[in-house]
Amino acid sequence: MKLDCHTHTSRFSACSVISPDDLLKLARERDLDGLVLTEHNRFWPPDEVSWLRRAFPELLVFTGAEITVGPHHVVVFLPRPDTSLFLCGSLESLSSAVAERDGYAFVAHPFRFNPNFDELVRNYPFAAIEVASFNQPQSDRVELSLEYARRHDLQPITASDAHSSDPVGDYFIKLPEAVVSVDELIAALHAGDFDLHAPVLPGNNNKFPDRDIF
Ligand SMILES: [Zn+2]
Ligand SMILES: [Zn+2]
Repeated sequence: MKLDCHTHTSRFSACSVISPDDLLKLARERDLDGLVLTEHNRFWPPDEVSWLRRAFPELLVFTGAEITVGPHHVVVFLPRPDTSLFLCGSLESLSSAVAERDGYAFVAHPFRFNPNFDELVRNYPFAAIEVASFNQPQSDRVELSLEYARRHDLQPITASDAHSSDPVGDYFIKLPEAVVSVDELIAALHAGDFDLHAPVLPGNNNKFPDRDIF
């Protein structure tokens, strides 16, 4: 199944210009099987997620959050939303909190703001790292991220980080089997058995040539 693990909507992320309805419609039109809504420092209310699932029964809709920790953005998936994680002041404390709750996390766009990301992070505490997204599409930064993942034995992950319609359907991972619950999703991600898809990766059409960061 094709899954986009990092998306934002205008419902709960002020920086996004795409509504939840439009995002889910596009995801379906562009052949995704599911996505994870990962708003900035906010979990979706369960009743509103239920409404979306009813409106888009053919799409698997999961929720996580993108948590700001100092200069870093960390995408977190938990079996149950827990806003206490928004208070974590370091990657290490957030990592411990995620592990205690049997969750999964990765740092988003590691080289988007910090070309010296590897100097900022002495001991990377998560199992995965986002290597390409619409907010980190440049081939040199993708290569830096892939090299970082290789050096630290991390799972690389690709996701759109969509804030608009543009990247929906172009960045995703492909899992060998469908997952229907967030617990299954977390287990599948930890297993690491998935393929990466991004326009800048070898073997893909480079629809988004290198460009400045917006
Ligand atoms: Zn971010
Ligand atoms: Zn994001």
